[in-house]
Amino acid sequence: MDKIVSLSKRRGFVFPSSEIYGGLGSSYDYGHYGVLLKNNVKGQWWRAMLQERDDIVALDSAIIQHPRTWEASGHLAGFTDPLVDCRTCKLRFRADHLGQSACGRKPSKHPGETPECDLTESRDFNLMFQTTVGPVKEEGSTVYLRPETAQGIFLNFKNYMQFSRKKPPFGIAQIGKSFRNEITTGNFIFRTREFEQMEMEFFVPPPEAGKWHQHWMSARMNWWTSLGLRPDHLRLRAHDDDELSHYSSATSDVEYLFPIGWSELEGIANRGDFDLTQHAKFSGQKLEYVDTATGDRYVPYVIEPAAGVDRAMLAFLVDAYDEDEIEGEQRTVLRLHPVLAPVKVAVLPLVRKDGQPELAAEVFRELRDHVQTEYDEGGAIGRRYRRQDEIGTPWAVTIDHQSLEDQTVTLRDRDSLKQVRVPIGELTDVIRGRLSEPWRSPKLDA
Ligand code: ATP
Repeated sequence: MDKIVSLSKRRGFVFPSSEIYGGLGSSYDYGHYGVLLKNNVKGQWWRAMLQERDDIVALDSAIIQHPRTWEASGHLAGFTDPLVDCRTCKLRFRADHLGQSACGRKPSKHPGETPECDLTESRDFNLMFQTTVGPVKEEGSTVYLRPETAQGIFLNFKNYMQFSRKKPPFGIAQIGKSFRNEITTGNFIFRTREFEQMEMEFFVPPPEAGKWHQHWMSARMNWWTSLGLRPDHLRLRAHDDDELSHYSSATSDVEYLFPIGWSELEGIANRGDFDLTQHAKFSGQKLEYVDTATGDRYVPYVIEPAAGVDRAMLAFLVDAYDEDEIEGEQRTVLRLHPVLAPVKVAVLPLVRKDGQPELAAEVFRELRDHVQTEYDEGGAIGRRYRRQDEIGTPWAVTIDHQSLEDQTVTLRDRDSLKQVRVPIGELTDVIRGRLSEPWRSPKLDA
């Protein structure tokens, strides 16, 4: 994890937030390459949800919603973690995570392990961030930052029944920020208080819920592996009965083998009719599907695949991180799936003279119309390759003296390190062809 954190900072993927003020625990800012990588992850999710199917529609709902939302959803009463304080070291811990937490005093390793530890009774701590709307803090002005994007979808169910011409089975998908006042954070961007979620609520006729739950478990597993995550680092784990949320009759987690051990990447839940029924009760509105032909009406069941963007990005970084040796020199390389790589091609003139930069600039202008491309003419070529390897750029195009004679360039592959000569006129098609090829992590064959 330390290596990922340091590469992320060094190469402009992720910075600790508010660093000039000493940082703010568990807040991170995404730098240039982090933004590009995150956009690619989200783009692939939208693609799988919207472009490759015809039964899902998109939504972008508000972060601050009517406070009754959270009464209906159960978050106000039940979205809590058990919390204990230590009167000696003044730190705060999750009562159910004591074994994994580090005590503030030595030699105790975990809170409660030495006689000096003085832990309070555990009490429930609500994870929702509260704020107020309007200029005065008065009754009725309390609102919450959403702790999940899902509720915005249920609040809009009626709108979608009216405009979208969809009927169950169909889904509504959303990507957006969620906020949770997590007690124990840490582990880089794995658990933060502000994070992005990719959630899709799939509304189905109740008798079909089991079948669709199965469908989404396998569809989501395929999505993660198709983007390069090594299958032996990925597993689906069904929740035990005592782990299930109040709304869920069955949940399975997609788990990834992070450096901190197997941990949740995505939850795939059968939420039954809990949410629509609750919002119907609290709002007094009918939230159901009515078949206009037969007059049949029912409250659909909901299957929900819910993933975190930041956690996805961490999994992709961890899975891609590799070190090898080239001609006796150590190299760090991100073996990202090319469609996720922040930059697809680097255009590099071998030397900064003899017309090479000018020709390279032409090649750059042509390629950037099609894929995210970067131009770099500064420093030794080996150092420039190394820099691109560290940000995961799958291909580098080098313009040399021969390029000026025969209009060909070398195309270098990040993983195989093979270099081939390609006519400049064919470069775009070659790159686009490679981008659409299936890809498999070279770490699997190592
Ligand atoms: P955990 O058990 O890790 O707290 P959860 O079961 O509460 O997660 P869900 O409510 O199912 O999480 O949210 C769906 C997804 O959102 C998670 O699988 C995860 O990828 C992401 N997520 C949840 N909480 C956080 C967080 N604090 N920071 C980053 N991502 C998060």
